[in-house]
Amino acid sequence: MKLQTDTIIEKLRQIGAKKVMIQVPDGLKPGVFDLFNALSKEFGIIISSDPFFGACDVGDSVLYKDVDCILQLGHSEIPNINYPKPVVFVEYKEEKIPEIRESLFGELKDRGISRIGLLFSIQYVEAADRVKSVLQKMGFDVLTGKNDGRLKYPGQVLGCNYSTGHSIQKDVDCFLLVSTGIFHGLGAQLALPKDVYLLDLNDLTVRNLAPETDRVIRKRYASIERAMSSRKICIVVDTKIGQKREKLAKALVEQARKADLEPVLIYSNNASPTDYENMRCDAVVFTGCPRVPIDDQDRYSIPVLTAPEFRAAIKARSDNRYVMDEIVSTD
Ligand code: SF4
Repeated sequence: MKLQTDTIIEKLRQIGAKKVMIQVPDGLKPGVFDLFNALSKEFGIIISSDPFFGACDVGDSVLYKDVDCILQLGHSEIPNINYPKPVVFVEYKEEKIPEIRESLFGELKDRGISRIGLLFSIQYVEAADRVKSVLQKMGFDVLTGKNDGRLKYPGQVLGCNYSTGHSIQKDVDCFLLVSTGIFHGLGAQLALPKDVYLLDLNDLTVRNLAPETDRVIRKRYASIERAMSSRKICIVVDTKIGQKREKLAKALVEQARKADLEPVLIYSNNASPTDYENMRCDAVVFTGCPRVPIDDQDRYSIPVLTAPEFRAAIKARSDNRYVMDEIVSTD
């Protein structure tokens, strides 16, 4: 990603910034020397080397409390977060788009699919436009779903929000996600009721994610079942600005008490298996990023559940289908 330092400087001037904290994802860290040199001529610069997970995380208040602006590289704004300081987001958009051939979508034709819901993760917004033209040329109807307040663009997805898919799920035969790797695709297939195909731009393949997602769902039900015999439950609020769902966690504490369990409400900015194991709890319910229970369960010796999974474990939900935890808004 080539950083347009002139544009960044202009944006910082517009908001009258004097002192700026910069968050840089690992992939862009080689650029910090150039960035520091270019910006520190005019602004006081603090570069945070702490890991961060997305626009839901502006880091430690100890670092940002004395700056008048945060500059975050690589992610797009989450519009409905009430950020503690003005944040300038420099989105990462993949510039090299490989050739998208019609033959990639042969299986969709063979299956008689005619209406496709197009989704993308933010880096691939431009690639998704190109995919749309190819699909339309092949005669498919391509629909782009409306975003809720947690997403910036129609068609965009986050690992914790698939509102763009939900808005059109009744109108499409399947979804096609333009991305790389399984992270966003797994979430999409867990959240949406129709098959999700992943166009993986790393290896230029298209595959149906339903079979591999079924395996994940089976593992989630195994965790839910293990949690059913739990008594001591840690219910965790993540304090990151865009993951903090305190009201939800407090409601879960009440539900746990009604189910004759022994809940404890925990606040944490960095969930760690040892913390909960040291508390000798039987299960954890994590209300921060919903991907922690799903993607990190293997790091824990005890079941770690999302809110809907916990409700399934204590039979507080009447339906049997698997429900993906999605963040719509935070407290
Ligand atoms: S909550 Fe999780 S999935 Fe959502 S933006 Fe943050 S890190 Fe990504």
